[in-house]
This record gives sequence, structure tokens and C-alpha cells, in this order.
Amino acid sequence: MLQQTQVSRVLDFYDRFITRFPDLATLASARESQVVSQWRGLGYYARARNLHALARRVVREEAHVYGGSLPDSPDALRVLPGVGAYTAGAVASFAYEKRAALVDTNVARVLQRVFAPHLHPKRGRDLRHLWAIAEAVLPRTGRAAWTHNQALMELGALVCTAREKRCGRCPVRVMCASTEDLDRGSR
Ligand code: SF4
Repeated sequence: MLQQTQVSRVLDFYDRFITRFPDLATLASARESQVVSQWRGLGYYARARNLHALARRVVREEAHVYGGSLPDSPDALRVLPGVGAYTAGAVASFAYEKRAALVDTNVARVLQRVFAPHLHPKRGRDLRHLWAIAEAVLPRTGRAAWTHNQALMELGALVCTAREKRCGRCPVRVMCASTEDLDRGSR
């Protein structure tokens, strides 16, 4: 739901959707039109159709492969409908505590500013480079990677934003290649 959509707009829809479809089995047993109907007003309806197709595949069509649950590795998640690299990494890391990288717009900006100011996250080749950096800086354990990924996303959302770099209160300013904190050497 959060793809292309702000959290404040999603909250009401999310609660209603989860109440109506509390698990994958319930979602899989619904008709596509019922799922899209619960999504009405949120836009980008391909997301609803993909989610429904994903539930059907995991619970019904390929239940012998998935056993009714989402897989826990990014590679296995990537083959499911509507699941891109970011979503696969997020589910593997946040739901299963696997050691998986994830790069959304905020994370790409933080990694670019800290490690590689010469890169442009909107260029495909440069984004692949940022994914490689995200993999390289992952902590060793899945649990630590969970915290690390949450922290990176929070940093991009609250401190190192698209509009403003709040370098003076940034916890990674001593290692950042783009800091605007002129006094960083003394901190
Ligand atoms: S030091 Fe500044 S530019 Fe670097 S990550 Fe922090 S807020 Fe962003």
C-alpha cells in the first residue's frame, strides 16, 4: 500500500483491509473484485490484484511449494507477483530477520550521500552500485540487519531527507562524505 502513497493516507485503508483479509488464506479465498473493492480510493489497483494473485499462488496453486506461507529468502520472494527487490528485502529482513539488504528511495539517498556522492540513485547502473553498498554494509546477523535496516530507513525519513540534511544531529556524520557539519572532526 505504501508504494507511491504516504503513510497518513494508507492508515485507514490498511486497518479496513486487514480486518477484512486478516491472513493469506482469507485473501486467497476472496474474489479479485472483492479485494479491489476494499482497495477502492487508494489507487494503483495493480497492487491489489498482485497481492491477491500472490495469496492464491502461495495458498492454493503452489501450496505444495510454499505450504501456505511466504518464503523467507529475497530470491524466492522475488518470483511472486508484485514483489520487487525492495519488497523482497523488506519481507526477508523485517518479517523473518534474515540478513537481507533493502534499498528504497530514502535508503538510496542516505547510502549515496554517506558513501558515494558521485552516484545518481535514479540511474539504473548507479542504483545497482548502491544495492552493492547496502549488501556490503549489512551487519553479520539477521537480527542486527533488522535493526540496521530500520535505522537506515529512519535516517532517510527523519534526518537525511530529500529536502534537508540535518547533519548537526546525524549519528553517521563522522563517516559521511556529504556532511555539511564543518565541525565534524571535533565531535
Ligand atoms: S551527515 Fe548529513 S549528509 Fe551525511 S547522512 Fe547525515 S544528514 Fe545526511
